[in-house]
Amino acid sequence: MNYKFLTVLAALAIAATGCSMENPADENVVTDANVSNTAAENAAQLITEEFIREIIIEISDDKYQGRGPSSAGDIAARKYLADRMADLGLEPGGVDGSWEQPFDLVSVNTLPPDEWTFAGHGNSTSFKQYDEFMINGNLQQPRIDITDAEVVFAGYGIQAPEFDWDDYKNIDVTGKIVLLMNNDPDWDPDLFAGETRLWYGRWDYKFLTAAKNGAVGAIIIHTTPSAGYPFQVLQTSNTGPQMELPVGDEPRNQFKSFMIEDAAKALVAMAGMDLDELREAAYNRNFEAVPLGITTSISMDVEISSVQTANVLGLIPGSDPDLKDEVVIYTAHHDHLGIGPANADGDTIYNGAMDNASGVGQVIAMARAFKSLPEAPRRTIMICLVGAEEQGLLGSKWFAANPTYRPGKIAANLNYDGGNLHGDTHDIIYIGFGKTSIDELVVKFAAEQGRTVKPDQFADRGYFYRSDQFSFAKIGVPAVYLEPGTDYVDRPPEWGRQKVEEYTTHHYHQPSDEYDPNWNLSGMIQDALIGFWTGLAIANADEMPTWNEGDEFEAVRLEALAAEQE
Ligand SMILES: [Zn+2]
Repeated sequence: MNYKFLTVLAALAIAATGCSMENPADENVVTDANVSNTAAENAAQLITEEFIREIIIEISDDKYQGRGPSSAGDIAARKYLADRMADLGLEPGGVDGSWEQPFDLVSVNTLPPDEWTFAGHGNSTSFKQYDEFMINGNLQQPRIDITDAEVVFAGYGIQAPEFDWDDYKNIDVTGKIVLLMNNDPDWDPDLFAGETRLWYGRWDYKFLTAAKNGAVGAIIIHTTPSAGYPFQVLQTSNTGPQMELPVGDEPRNQFKSFMIEDAAKALVAMAGMDLDELREAAYNRNFEAVPLGITTSISMDVEISSVQTANVLGLIPGSDPDLKDEVVIYTAHHDHLGIGPANADGDTIYNGAMDNASGVGQVIAMARAFKSLPEAPRRTIMICLVGAEEQGLLGSKWFAANPTYRPGKIAANLNYDGGNLHGDTHDIIYIGFGKTSIDELVVKFAAEQGRTVKPDQFADRGYFYRSDQFSFAKIGVPAVYLEPGTDYVDRPPEWGRQKVEEYTTHHYHQPSDEYDPNWNLSGMIQDALIGFWTGLAIANADEMPTWNEGDEFEAVRLEALAAEQE
């Protein structure tokens, strides 16, 4: 058990026995972090279905056009959310006394060819854009021109010295195109954390690593199990303008592409090889990348323009003069996909009611509870509604690169992305469980609701690296992402997981992610309450939470804390 958590527990125990505290700051720790405290319990009562429902209904309405970054709907939603926080009495936490932290988004609108032709071994074959492959320019330049680039199968496309793994050994892929498998090795618990998907198993890692090795482009072979979602998700999220932060000095390839498995099989077959055999060979650290003897040329125009969106930030200043410059940050992304391709019903508005109007509703409800406390928590509470999450966590990345509090002063980040719509659960899912001292708080407050905490139930999908808390973790901030449980009260054990699968298949990133009056938000309230109590305990504790020893983010945290001592 973590030492600092023991301190909190000890304080709670003292409160329970009724000992008086001489130090007002200590008294505050005890009272506000204690669930039996009436003031905090009354505050928690303000996290209601009605309040959250109103926010979800509002910002998922068609009039906000799916909240695509920089759209009129985005601007209107940001204004509504700032107004909501102002109504609650929060203070603006943005730039120059405003509610917003604006940032530029470069819109990269690739005009892909209808077909992509590959040639070699006396043959040629063409694939259809959208049905068989997706491609996007990756340079923020108006034209992509690639001539006769050779295709190399490079397995997982991973270079991980700690696992003695290098798919780019003994080959120079400069000027070439790499064909890659998704995910990371998953058959051995000691290798890339077994079935848990690490950063190495994410497509953004793979494109970046291909670029570092000089490849002009990378094609990831899509399979639903190796991606964790169907190809349809890539079709919708890779069509039309792609928003990015302005290009920095990181290496980039000219394009990034995804190809369905059947097309990749046909491509490899043209080389007289078998994709299954190549993949089999790549399940091994001795694997060496295989040039296919196939070349391709591809040219595309790319429309580049720049637009602006913003994170919306509200503050509840801390009450302890020594700790108020430290902050507990709640995040929920306010954006969604905007207007896109029509579904079968002709609907083009991607409302994003669950994703993520529901998370926004939850964290604003928590702000309402915090704000109603007779005395604010010792540390400052920030509600950070980030933009452009769906475009690759861009708002949280921007915040992490330009934090309004220094990283060493950010006590924790609690992220909400998608709430429970189906009623009470016996469990809550904690993405990032096992990484920080926050574990014990979440376990404690869940237990008080008679619930258990479960780690990521789909560890192979790498959810920790797919939502906004990851941006905070990368700058060392202990970060937590709480998700709906799957073990529903009075339902068969498999029901909850089926609901998750159903959502992923039918509604995730589709126009049908719309508000439904039949949603039962009782479980969402339970999950928000755990976030409220956990954040309150963190805000009032003497010490900030810590990463567990040896965690992948511990070193950067220690650096950030050391910087505060200088
Ligand atoms: Zn989301």
